[in-house]
Amino acid sequence: MSLKVLLVEDDREIRTLMQSVLTVEGFEVVTAVSLSEARSLFANTAPDVVVLDLGLPDGDGATLLRELRRQGSVPVVVVSARDNEEQKIGLLDAGADDYLVKPFSVGELLARMRVALRHRGVALAPAQTVYELDNVHIDLEQRAVRLDGRPLHLTPTEFALLARLVRSAGRVVTHRQLLADVWGAEFTEHTHYLRIYMGALRGKLEADPAEPRFLLTEPGVGYRLVAD
Ligand code: CA
Repeated sequence: MSLKVLLVEDDREIRTLMQSVLTVEGFEVVTAVSLSEARSLFANTAPDVVVLDLGLPDGDGATLLRELRRQGSVPVVVVSARDNEEQKIGLLDAGADDYLVKPFSVGELLARMRVALRHRGVALAPAQTVYELDNVHIDLEQRAVRLDGRPLHLTPTEFALLARLVRSAGRVVTHRQLLADVWGAEFTEHTHYLRIYMGALRGKLEADPAEPRFLLTEPGVGYRLVAD
């Protein structure tokens, strides 16, 4: 079972990037763009860890941090554009597990999240990161795909889409889930993105893209990656 992250970030570009990387890393990601949305999603989805931006359109993320601390011990990693020692100390005192100043690398965020989760006693099972589909070798950690033993170039979006499908190998993933996880929650109506990118992926991975063996269409529902 994957861990659930509540990602609270109003900057669309940062949110979309973090969401796709966290998804590829095996987290289930729910995103909020404001304090009020974060409050209701926290109550409804019970995340395992919260990544919290401070500057939000309807208030300061620190307000939510204090509310979460009154409720329990969910790990909270604060991300902020403000680099201010005093504020950093204040947030850590208020119960933040860690504090990252933008811009930060996603690798750094993942490392801090792992530490915060471990500290709170959440065991991170090693996620499966390598998948073999007949002549296709997918390494999620290295972000590398090989076809018949040769490196295959995928764009970041193609890779994110393939990674999302391979993590649910054998199961149908709906259009809405794919669009939300790969592009972001505001793209769930853009089903034409999926047609374009699935076409590109099939062109690169399938011997006969018109008769796919791995990347199957579930008409009207979504897609399914078949692993055998
Ligand atoms: Ca912000």
